This record gives sequence, C-alpha cells and structure tokens, in this order.
Amino acid sequence: VKQVFDFHEGNASMKSVLGGKGAHLAEMTRAGLQVPPGFTISTAACLSYFQGNEGLSEELWQETQSALRRLEERKGQKLGNADNPLLVSVRSGSVTSMPGMMDTLLNLGLNDETVQGLARQTGNARFAYDCYRRLLQMFGEVVLGIEGFRFEKILSRVKSARGAETDQQLSADGLCELIEEYKGCIVARAGRPFPEDVHEQLRLAIQAVFSSWHNPRAKFYRQLNRIPDDQGTAVNIQSMVFGNLGSDCGTGVVFTRNPSTGEKDLYGEYLIDAQGEDVVAGSRTPQPVASLRNDMPDTYEELLRVAKRLENHYRDMQDIEFTVEKGKLYILQTRNGKRNAQAAVKIAVDLVKEGVIAKEEALQRIEASHLDQLLHRGIDESAVADVLATGLPASPGAASGRAAFDADTAARWSRDGIKVLLVRPETTPEDIHGVLVSEGVVTSRGGMTSHAAVVARGMGKPCVCGCESLDIDEERGQMTVGSRTVKEGDLLTIDGASGRVIVGEVPLREPKMTEQLSELLGWADAIRTLEVRANADNPDDARTGRQFGAQGIGLCRTEHMFFAPDRLPVVQRMIVADDDAERNKALAQLLPMQQSDFEGMFEQMNGLPVTIRLLDPPLHEFLPQEKELLKRLEELADTVEPGEAEKAEKKAIEATLRKVRSLAEVNPMLGLRGCRLGLVHPEIYDMQAEAIFRAASRCRERGISVELEIMVPLVGHVNELEILRNRIDHAARRVKEEEGGIDAAYKVGTMIEVPRAALTAGQIARHADFFSFGTNDLTQMTYGYSRDDAEGKFLTHYLDHKLLQVNPFQSLDTDGVGKLIEWGVSSGRAEKPELKTGICGEHGGDKESIFFCHRVGLNYVSCSPFRLPMARIAAAQAAI
Ligand code: ADP
Ligand code: MG
Ligand code: MG
Repeated sequence: VKQVFDFHEGNASMKSVLGGKGAHLAEMTRAGLQVPPGFTISTAACLSYFQGNEGLSEELWQETQSALRRLEERKGQKLGNADNPLLVSVRSGSVTSMPGMMDTLLNLGLNDETVQGLARQTGNARFAYDCYRRLLQMFGEVVLGIEGFRFEKILSRVKSARGAETDQQLSADGLCELIEEYKGCIVARAGRPFPEDVHEQLRLAIQAVFSSWHNPRAKFYRQLNRIPDDQGTAVNIQSMVFGNLGSDCGTGVVFTRNPSTGEKDLYGEYLIDAQGEDVVAGSRTPQPVASLRNDMPDTYEELLRVAKRLENHYRDMQDIEFTVEKGKLYILQTRNGKRNAQAAVKIAVDLVKEGVIAKEEALQRIEASHLDQLLHRGIDESAVADVLATGLPASPGAASGRAAFDADTAARWSRDGIKVLLVRPETTPEDIHGVLVSEGVVTSRGGMTSHAAVVARGMGKPCVCGCESLDIDEERGQMTVGSRTVKEGDLLTIDGASGRVIVGEVPLREPKMTEQLSELLGWADAIRTLEVRANADNPDDARTGRQFGAQGIGLCRTEHMFFAPDRLPVVQRMIVADDDAERNKALAQLLPMQQSDFEGMFEQMNGLPVTIRLLDPPLHEFLPQEKELLKRLEELADTVEPGEAEKAEKKAIEATLRKVRSLAEVNPMLGLRGCRLGLVHPEIYDMQAEAIFRAASRCRERGISVELEIMVPLVGHVNELEILRNRIDHAARRVKEEEGGIDAAYKVGTMIEVPRAALTAGQIARHADFFSFGTNDLTQMTYGYSRDDAEGKFLTHYLDHKLLQVNPFQSLDTDGVGKLIEWGVSSGRAEKPELKTGICGEHGGDKESIFFCHRVGLNYVSCSPFRLPMARIAAAQAAI
C-alpha cells in the first residue's frame, strides 16, 4: 500500500489517511493556493511503525526518499547540498485536530556546511545561523528529549553576555557562539552529537514525530476530548518558507471570524521577521492583524481574499497559518477554527443567514457539551475597586480564586477544595493539568492565540493574557506589579471579557441568554421530539429553568426544602420525637412551610408539569454528626456550675445522640430511605402529600394551572408503590373534601432507580402514571459502585487504565444501565401504553446520554437549569 502522498495527490476527504493538516494542505494545493510543496506520510505508516520495533521500515524509507527526490526536483534544491540546500519542516498532523499537542521540527537539512550555503544564497549570515540554532534546539528537544529550559538558559546567558535584550539583537557572531553552545549541550545531555548527516536528521525526525503521538500532553488532551488513542499521526514534510528573512517577512495566525465573539472580522496576530512558533510560543507579544494593513497593505488584501476563499470552500470559520517571505504570502495550514460557545453560536446562526449552511447543519455544529459555557459569568462592575493590571481579554467569563504560580500547586490546592487562579508567565502544554483545575488563567506574556488563550477558551474558562506589567517570580512564589506585591495564595478576580486583573474577590453576575442563542434554540425546539425539564428545588431555580426553556420540572427534591436554616430544627424535632404526639406537632409545623414552597413552584410553572419527589434520603442526614454532639457534651461537662439551660441542653443532646446512634446504618444508601421511610413512618409522606394537595388547591383557586405529578422514590417492589399510592389518593380525597371539592387532578408515578424496579416494570406500571429513571442510583446499584466513594477509591484508576472509557456517573452506561432502561420502558408501556417516561439525574445533562434517551423513546430528560440550552440542542441533534 501507498504510504507517502505528494500534496497534489491528496484532498480534504483523505483526512483519515493524511491527517487533518496533510489533507488540507493537499486540498489547498489543488485549489491553487500558495502552499510550499511537500508530501505526507500516512497515519497507517505511523501505526505500523508503532507495531514494529526497529525504526522506520525499509519500504517506508524508500518511499519517503522517492517523494523527497520529487520535491527536490520541483524546488530545484537538494537536501544536504552545500550550495543550494533544501530545507524542510517535519510536521505532525493527527486526524482529529490537537493543536500544539504533538511535535514539529523546522529548518531540517541544516548542518555546518549547508548553513554556509544558506548564508551565501540569501546574503544573510545572521538569518542562516538563526535558522540553524532553532533547528538545534528543536532537534534537541523533540528528537533527543532534552529539556527546553537547558537551551533557554544558554540563550539568556549568551544574550546577557552580549548585551542583547531580545533574540533579534543577537548578532551573527552571537548566534555562532549559541550554535556551538547548543551542540555542546546536545553532546552532554544526549550522549551523542547532533547529526550532520541530513538524511539521518530526517529519519530521526520522522520517528520522533510519530512518537510524539504518545507524549503525555497529547495523551492527556485525547483523554480530555475523548479522542481515540489508536489513530496515530501523519507526518508532513514540507519545504521551508522564511518569515525571519527581514522586515518584509513575517508569520502569523488568523481566524476568518473572531473566535471569542463570532464577529465577521479577520482576527489574529502576526510578528514581523519571525519564524513559525514565535507567534504561539508567547516569547514575543505579537501585533493584531489589523495593523498588517499598514505594515504590508498588499499582503493584507491578499490575506483577506484567501480567508474568504477558504471560508467559502470549507463553509466554516477557518484558522489559518501564514508566512510572508520577501513580501510573498504562503499558506501553511488551515482548519476549522476552534471557538468558544458564544462564537460557535453566532457563527452558526450567521452562516445560516448568509445562506451558506442549513439550520440542521448549524445545530449539528454546536458542540452540545460546550454550550453551557455560553452562560458566562461577568463581574459586578459597581464592586470593582482595585484593578491590579490589565492584559488582553483572551477568554470571556469572570472568576475569583487564590493565585497559584505553577500548575502543580494549582492542582494540589484544588484537590483540597481551594479555588485557584493559575498565574503564569506563559503556559505550555505541560501546564494543562493546572489549567484544568483552575477557575481561570492569567499570563504575563503571549497574545490572543497563545497557548493559554486557546486552551482556556476551549475549556470555557476566563483568561487574561499578555498582562505585561505582572512580574512573576515563581521561585519566591510572588509577583510584583509596579511597587505592589501579590503573594501566592492571595485572592484575585479576573474578568476575561475586559482583561482586568483585580485584587480581592469581586462579586460575580450570572449570565443571560444572547439573541443568537435564542434563535438557535428556537430552531432546536422545532426539530426535537424529546421534551426537556428542569431539576429545581425552589421557585428561583424553577424560574431560571423556565427562562432556559424548561417544559416542566422533572425533579423537585423536597428534602432540599428541609435543609433551610429555619426548617432544620423543626425537622430534627420531628425525627427525635419520642412519641407520636410530639412527632405530629413537628409535622404540623412543617406542613405550612412545605405548602408555601409548593405554591411557589406551582406559581412559577403555571401550566407546566411539576414533579415532586417525596422525601428520599436517610433521616440521619438531617441530624448533627455524632462527634459534634460528643464534643458539645464534653464542653457542657466542663461547665462548673451548670444552670437550668445547660441541663436542658444536655438532656436534649443526649436524646439526639441516642437517635443518631439508633439511625446509624452500615450502608445508608441501601438502608432506610426513599419509599421505605414512607412505609415505616407513613406520617411523613402523609404530611407531604397533604401539603402538596393543599398548595395545588390554593393555587387553582387563584386561577393558576397546576399540572401535579407526585413521585415515590426508590421503589423496588410493586407492593411498595401500591400501598403508598393508596395513601396519596387518600390524602387527595381528604384535602378535596376539606377544601370544598376543587378539581384535584394529579398523577402518581415512581422513580425507577433500583434494578429490580426496572426488571419488574410491567407490574409496577399498573400503579404508576409515569416512570422517571433515576440514573444516579440506578448506575450505583447496577454497577454496585458507591457513587460517593468510587471516584477516590478505584474509578479514577479504572479510567486511567482505560478499563472504563467514560465515567458511568457522567455518561450513561448504555450497555448495562441502558438495557435496564430499555426494558423498563418497553415492559412498562406494554402494560400501560400511555405511561410517561423520563430521566432525571446528572445524565439528563449529558449529550451522549440524551442521544440514548431519544433512541429508546423516552418522553423527556430533566437536568439542571443551566444545562437546559445544551439539552435542547442535543435533543435536536439526536432527532436530525
Ligand atoms: P502545530 O501543530 O504546533 O501548529 P505546525 O506543524 O503547524 O505545528 O508548525 C509549527 C509552526 O511552524 C507553525 O507556525 C507553522 O506555520 C510553522 N511552519 C511549519 N512548516 C513550515 C514551513 N515549511 N515553512 C515555514 N513555517 C512552517
Ligand atoms: Mg499549526
Ligand atoms: Mg435516587
């Protein structure tokens, strides 16, 4: 099989063979754009390289050599020729874009001889040496595995010895010294010299780029983005063009539309007299592309034309790498640009309006899992007092946290539950674990397309970049800004929309819906068949849910009402009561409280269904912990002359303690909770049912339309539901009589969250008007994983070792838990065709799980209010 393809042999549809970069280089070559010629080694070749164990196969090497000879002919240059050397880049390129995660080498083909040839040819020795020292550094790092800072240290030493402030100020002599030092460093660190043999360079570079598929940051990125591990990378070998040949040269990155806002404007950055990675590396702060209009007017116009052409061709926003050599524009890469959710929505909607794509396609382009990012926070402007510094507004949103100056510290603190802001001179892919756990990122160097900016936008975290007035001293764990010092651990707030870094914790404002999003969601609503509901425990959440398009409340957890500070003491009294009289007194006090909560919910949801779940958790969750009680008892025992109050308190605590001990269970999650509680202590559910019906009847009197659904949790046997349903019906009749016969329509249903309930769903359906699959408990009990312990104890291990592909508590296990749901739905409906079915729990807000729910024909999913837009889009995508 053919393993090597010249650029003009490929096209965009060959992505799986050529990788994204290679396929698009080929496509652009075909379209006649200025692409430096080259060829691509296929991903299949990479995979067979991984299988073998003696380097590149002879076959592959021969094929590469032939392609190289064709390239040499086309360019009229030869790799390693001292008078007319061909220089190439060796670039990674995976099927799924993984920006900056793998390795690339530039200026390959230079050695002590060819560097002289390049100097003679260009009449620019400084330039030639600059290319050579870059190659030595990249080769040292990428091929020989030497740490980058070794080279950086040498660079700063040589610069300061020669009084150069920037790299550009280093003379040809200075660069020669640097080259010698770099070579010495390579011998010392790698135990072998830099290969003068250019074909050896090429062979090693190809192998290194293949292997970069397995480097830790690439693996981490794949895990994070759920990219399969077995694709491998293609390798692109491309003749060099030079952006570092003087002031009529440069290099840059542009997006055809703004990746933060979606505005239809060329957006990006460039550097004059610079090569390749200088722009993204953040070592120099680049210029915004708008100023290219003045610096190089013709190039700017041409870039506009190319941008437009590429966008029309790919029918999507493009992220384009370009280099200008002696005034001539070359295109080095194009891909569908990464964007944040706001831009994604605006661009998709705009493209529909521009007639470029259809509504369905627009919807499909929205990454459902990123949509909740749209709901960015902002800062409360009136509370901004102390602005420390202002940088570039690199990723919108606002956050507060404690300043951590390195990724490991950030990771450690976040494990301890501390909110962190990662503050770095610049970030590299090595910092990604720190970014992941931080509330936001600040860098002192680098622009809007620097690593920090790109990564933060992708994760929907706020980021301020290029904040040059911050002088960060990692070793001492502090930074100075002018005369002020910020220590590690100090509280800061950042506003990624304006670029401000503010001292202290500023209150944040919750986000609201944009016009484009509403429009897009409208399209989604017209397409989807799955209903969406909100999980909401109070009227505020219900209102938010309604604003975000909830078609009802799928889960209202009554126990959350019990935890309110004014309720908890009454709840506790109810639990520790010694006799029925005392318990009923406490319940009578709770009843009006619950009733008013429910009235609030019904008011908000006027006309839409509200599913209220009766009390679910074990009672001891409402009581204080044993050790706290013991502590207080000890304190009281130390009181020298206890008064009446102390004595009474002691007695009360002892009573509570007895109750806490008697309620203690070895496996509380499998213990006295849910409907079991309702059966053993029927007065609690009776009170709740009464409160619900009274609330419903009050609201109906006031003309509010109440669609009431009462839900019994944790049913595992049909008898449980049958008995409780009778009690609920009884309460309904009682209230109806007392309230004077107002129509009291309601439904009674059950959670299906115990595997046995799913298996016997047919029987259970006889007594249920609806099923709501409680997939948190159902997953816990089907897998036998304690949800509260699994993560720390073994689930992380399972995920790290790929024993499980995804966390089943995040994304529904369709093979196992899903089977139970399918069975539950079909046998339930066989018994009762009009049975309504839905799910509540974390999975209701997960895209893949929503797809599953659509497939098995559920009526609705219920999720947290902020995930609703995402759920609506995912439901539409599932229906397309
Ligand atoms: P990455 O995936 O990290 O962007 P690339 O392979 O795209 O890696 O290359 C890194 C940088 O080097 C980019 O800025 C790219 O434009 C530049 N570059 C790659 N090949 C060449 C070349 N043949 N001539 C000039 N610059 C190049
Ligand atoms: Mg690139
Ligand atoms: Mg449950």
